[in-house]
Amino acid sequence: MTEQQTIDIARLPVMGEAAQQSYPTATLYVVATPIGNVTDITLRALHLLALADVVACEDTRKTGALLQRFGLSKQTIAAHMHNEREVADKIVERLRGGQRVALVSDAGTPAVSDPGARIVDAVREAGLNVVPLPGPSAAITALSASGLVNDRFHFVGFLPAKTKQREAALSALVRETSTLVLYEAPHRIVECVEGLLAVFEPTRQVVFARELSKLFEEVHRCPLSEALGWVKADQHRERGEFVVLVEGAVLATD
Ligand code: SAM
Repeated sequence: MTEQQTIDIARLPVMGEAAQQSYPTATLYVVATPIGNVTDITLRALHLLALADVVACEDTRKTGALLQRFGLSKQTIAAHMHNEREVADKIVERLRGGQRVALVSDAGTPAVSDPGARIVDAVREAGLNVVPLPGPSAAITALSASGLVNDRFHFVGFLPAKTKQREAALSALVRETSTLVLYEAPHRIVECVEGLLAVFEPTRQVVFARELSKLFEEVHRCPLSEALGWVKADQHRERGEFVVLVEGAVLATD
């Protein structure tokens, strides 16, 4: 066994590199933030957040608390699904005034099953600069640990909440050969699995990526036929956040 090493992050020479990069003014920065473990934030995200004139975010309290954990105190403005259009105009104004505006969501990558796309669209329409800062995304994190060997995936995101619409949405995907990537709200995981069982063959592999990067993280893979049993085996599984992956269809060739 090799000797274990520890890292003193503050002393790493690479820390300075994020600061030396150029962060132009009059730019919207789309910044990914952690999906659970706060230390998954990137060095570049921290530098940019420290530099930003204002942070546009879904929930000012949540983002305020995140910033505080890194010793940052910033002006925040609410940018959620109910006010995206109006706030987009305000952001465009600020950018025209030469500000750096950071856009974050509550968790992960903004504009992916999260608000943000309308703001980015308005900023682009206005001919202004948009720079993405990559980082955590629940979908990509789940795929990376799934072992489902497929170079293609189909991002479905959230299924409709109502049973009929949910099954219709799934039926439309039954011949899709790419791995399907679903997001599911904590309280609907049983309905999600029931919907899958109603539509897909029970032999399809499914992967449940639950509470990624958090204390009770689980990544479980099984045939669909065993999925409901797994979800119901522990009452905690009906809470927590889930990404559900479904193996793509294997179509008969003749
Ligand atoms: N923008 C985010 C991203 O980049 O992944 C997704 C935000 S979306 C509103 C929230 C959904 O993402 C959750 O319902 C769940 O499906 C998934 N999710 C977010 N964090 C997660 C985590 N830590 N573990 C598993 N799934 C997560």
